[in-house]
Amino acid sequence: MAVERTFSMIKPDATARNLTGKITAKLEEAGLRVVASKRVWMSRKQAEGFYAVHKDRPFFGELCDTMTSGPTIVQVLEGENAIARNREVMGATDPAKAAAGTIRKEFAKNIGENSVHGSDATDTAAQEIAYWFSGTEIVG
Ligand code: GDP
Repeated sequence: MAVERTFSMIKPDATARNLTGKITAKLEEAGLRVVASKRVWMSRKQAEGFYAVHKDRPFFGELCDTMTSGPTIVQVLEGENAIARNREVMGATDPAKAAAGTIRKEFAKNIGENSVHGSDATDTAAQEIAYWFSGTEIVG
């Protein structure tokens, strides 16, 4: 597997608890390199667009409330098999089901406030990176 890039987000529940460094350390320990990073406070419109795939789910309103409740850190991660690697170190969506040692097991509060987002496929990674980092030169 070649080196690839993925998009990561440290969610408001985690920035509120000052966990940016601890979560980034877990990503780095997993072999992922932070090649772009910035702090963003999402608008309602951005949250609704980012999670549009979930717009008909019962938790959509709550999800958008949570994502706009404070700043996030958006990142581009680079590494071997980065998309799958990041999903692995994030752990299951519900922290109660996440494996030991994963970010969500260690830091997430609940299924909604689960500390991190990570792209799930090559096309979504490319789209999410393009959206949040268009105009930014990303050096490897
Ligand atoms: P992910 O790829 O592991 O983040 O999971 P999904 O794509 O399925 O869901 C996106 C996000 O929606 C999750 O990370 C949660 O923040 C939120 N979410 C998913 N399922 C639920 C749920 O049952 N209840 C609530 N409140 N939020 C949820």
